[in-house]
Amino acid sequence: PGEQLDFDPEKKTLVILGSGWGATSLLKTLDTEDYNVILISPRNYFLFTPLLPSVAVGTVTPRSIIQPTRYVARHKKRKVSVIEAEATDVDPLKKTVTFSDTSDIQGQVWSTTIPYDYLVYAVGAETQTFNIPGVAEHACFMKELHDAEKFQTRFMDCVESAAFPGQSPEEIDRLLHMVVVGGGPTGVELSGELHDFLTDDLKQWYPELAERIRITLVEALPTVLPSFSKQLIEYTESTFKEAKIDVLTKTMVKEIKEKSVVVKMPDGSTKEMPMGLIVWAGGNKMRKLTADLIAKLPETQTNRRGLTVDDHLRLKGAESIFALGDCTATQYAPTAQVATQEGAYLARLFNSIARKDALEKQLKALQADPIKAEEQKTEVENLQKQLMKLEKLRPFHYSHQGSLAYIGSEKAIADLPIFGSGNLATGGVATYLFWRSAYLSTLFSFRNRALVALDWMKVKFFGRDVSRE
Ligand code: FAD
Ligand code: NAD
Repeated sequence: PGEQLDFDPEKKTLVILGSGWGATSLLKTLDTEDYNVILISPRNYFLFTPLLPSVAVGTVTPRSIIQPTRYVARHKKRKVSVIEAEATDVDPLKKTVTFSDTSDIQGQVWSTTIPYDYLVYAVGAETQTFNIPGVAEHACFMKELHDAEKFQTRFMDCVESAAFPGQSPEEIDRLLHMVVVGGGPTGVELSGELHDFLTDDLKQWYPELAERIRITLVEALPTVLPSFSKQLIEYTESTFKEAKIDVLTKTMVKEIKEKSVVVKMPDGSTKEMPMGLIVWAGGNKMRKLTADLIAKLPETQTNRRGLTVDDHLRLKGAESIFALGDCTATQYAPTAQVATQEGAYLARLFNSIARKDALEKQLKALQADPIKAEEQKTEVENLQKQLMKLEKLRPFHYSHQGSLAYIGSEKAIADLPIFGSGNLATGGVATYLFWRSAYLSTLFSFRNRALVALDWMKVKFFGRDVSRE
């Protein structure tokens, strides 16, 4: 009946929450022979987020950038139970996790609680809205696959509604005004992709309307991409200027209405801009489950940005829980690069813990019989030596490989660390080709790589699809 949880009483139970960058990287490297592994996530696939803005405008098709989690699980040595469900409660004292099937279709059993020996908490974050009125009701987000699909449909809807006979010039301008909020990498990449769609395809399909489509990027800080070097910020701003993307910096969105957005301008005045579509890319905020977990550990979990972990990624205040990725508040940026390295580190850590447990068991068995222990003295010493080595598990060390972002017009920017000193800041068409090859090589599987390469080729030859789903 249902999914058989393959419990071996001899092995410890490792429950993983999430199927994103952190959890998938852990699963890929983990030796599943050593544990009863259960992975719980409301999303039964891994999503390659860097290409999400490309999906939003149809450069890449949605299925090309996802990989079923069961595919990863199926290739492990020992069975991994994958459960499509949302964790609703973590009890660090009882060491249990409660999860529910929150999908549209549920069976008679839809919620249950299981115990864990170790819990890996990798549930990511959700989009920060700062409770600004109207964001949840009227804006599109750019976090999940359905966000990109919703954006694509709404965008084409705006264009088709603008093309409706008898539409007034003011209404056409409103419908064709696309606003992106947030000048972080998500907002910048989406604006760039949107510009490509406009110049590569819409100009041919809607020649009378395309010229009137406007893209406005609104950012509260003095510049876009504050985490990139000054040179690349200037390069991005000048590329956007050439591409006629209006960048409004030091401008804060205060309210979003059905057909307009209210912003506070740098001089303190308020302006209401009519718009057809608005995308909210305002950064990360912790999930409710994470806030609840923090509330259960008030003595040790005091950071409001996310979970506090030690340098072995162990949750402060709950030794059996390990946390990684966007749900944690560390010295590192919330990126896929960090989450992936943390996941791989944890896999190695769990492999070492399992080896340590096995050695301890062996040693205990030998030492239980003093005669045997004396006879096999060298073996005992050898085991003790090996254990001492494993005692000192190395802390997590992050190695930054650089930051890359696509800015449209076949241009990308890259901040790359160079051996020894400094950074190489580069932008342009060559960087764009580097961006494409880097993303292609980091895609999850050969299947993903082939599908994305095929999508790029399709767009080159036939253009993007303008049908509205
Ligand atoms: P996620 O990958 O978000 O995974 C979280 C997982 O937890 C998901 O599977 C989710 O379904 C699951 N989950 C949620 N709630 C629950 C629950 N209650 N119980 C169980 N499971 C749950 N970073 C880069 O380094 N380079 C890039 O180019 C880049 N591009 C990006 C582009 C976009 C559009 C976005 C949105 C992000 C981008 N990032 C990039 C950031 C990167 O995606 C995140 O830092 C990364 O996803 C964090 O990994 P994670 O495992 O912590 O969380
Ligand atoms: P972010 O936090 O980097 O940027 C959000 C931006 O929105 C901020 O600059 C903030 O000032 C602005 N903002 C918030 N509220 C606003 C308001 N009311 N009005 C105007 N502006 C407002 O978020 P992101 O771009 O989604 O990125 C999240 C994480 O994912 C980051 O760590 C980023 O590095 C990573 N990421 C990386 C890449 C890449 O490397 N190519 C791509 C996407 C995301």
